[in-house]
Amino acid sequence: MTHAYPFLSTEQKKELSDIAQRIVAAGKGILAADESTGSMAKRFQNINTENTEENRRLYRQLLFTADKQVNPCIGGVIFFHETLYQKTDDGKLFPQLVKEKGMVVGIKVDKGVVPLAGTNGETTTQGLDGLYERCAQYKKDGADFAKWRCVLKITSTTPSQLAIMENANVLARYASICQMHGIVPIVEPEILPDGDHDLQRCQYVTEKVLAAVYKALSDHHVYLEGTLLKPNMVTAGHSCPKKYSPQEIAMATVTALRRAVPPAVPGVTFLSGGQSEEEATINLNAINQCPLHRPWALTFSFGRALQASALKAWGGKKENGKACQDQYIKRALSNSKAALGKYVSSGAGGAAAQDSLFVADHAY
Ligand code: 13P
Repeated sequence: MTHAYPFLSTEQKKELSDIAQRIVAAGKGILAADESTGSMAKRFQNINTENTEENRRLYRQLLFTADKQVNPCIGGVIFFHETLYQKTDDGKLFPQLVKEKGMVVGIKVDKGVVPLAGTNGETTTQGLDGLYERCAQYKKDGADFAKWRCVLKITSTTPSQLAIMENANVLARYASICQMHGIVPIVEPEILPDGDHDLQRCQYVTEKVLAAVYKALSDHHVYLEGTLLKPNMVTAGHSCPKKYSPQEIAMATVTALRRAVPPAVPGVTFLSGGQSEEEATINLNAINQCPLHRPWALTFSFGRALQASALKAWGGKKENGKACQDQYIKRALSNSKAALGKYVSSGAGGAAAQDSLFVADHAY
């Protein structure tokens, strides 16, 4: 076997690892506000709001202009392409605004899932064509990290070896392209919560998927110190009759991570995956109280679990802007505490704190 031909200089490696460390600094996590236009249609439908470009801008403006209390809670914000070029009412580009608050700007670069032929409904994620050029442009336009989501499903016949290998490889290829442009890749192999499988099965599948992802990242010479992992928490399937405690979920999650994720990775930023806001926060807190050694920051990169109450409180109405921001701030503060293992649930929550956010076969 030959040696690796170096593709990143010492300075480039430092830049990447500094960006990753800033995003997951103590008590910080990520606001995933990168819903595609199609996903926003579904979010807005729930609150009877028309899915126009202007409404999407108004809603995101509320999140990005929330009170400075959120600044110590949010290390990074993931944007969708459209949002990266939108401006506040007084003409400031959103990435500029977010950076001034000390948050790192991220961009969703995948182009969604497509079927994998010959499998039982499994998918791969497209978007590699032109990614090299797009990353160069996004870096110029202010993005310092990126996200690419792959999806795996648990059934009696899945995930197949093909789906595991293909998704691991496409994630690794994406990650190496990002790093060549000074962009920290968030590697997201999401295992969906659909199904009636138990906690042990989810743990087993998570271990196998993560092991394949880290083998592929190594094969593609990805610099792990300049990456973040965005996995599912290990939970039982949504329709599993048996219920598990946050401590059981935490133990299964941390055990799986310890078996497959190298300590060189600076942070693990969980997706909320259809858990209710309060459930996601309580589970993240339990993960940070788990009595096993955890060499990475363990924090949040929530979409639904940071925004559900905020969206509901807003309801598409101008006069509800402050109420929307209050709900978002409340979840950000709670999740920041959970990322430190210091969250104490008051039981009250926000406008939608206990609502199930589960969507079957979820797309993003
Ligand atoms: P949820 O937290 O809503 O699962 O989404 C986070 C995300 O970015 C999925 O790709």
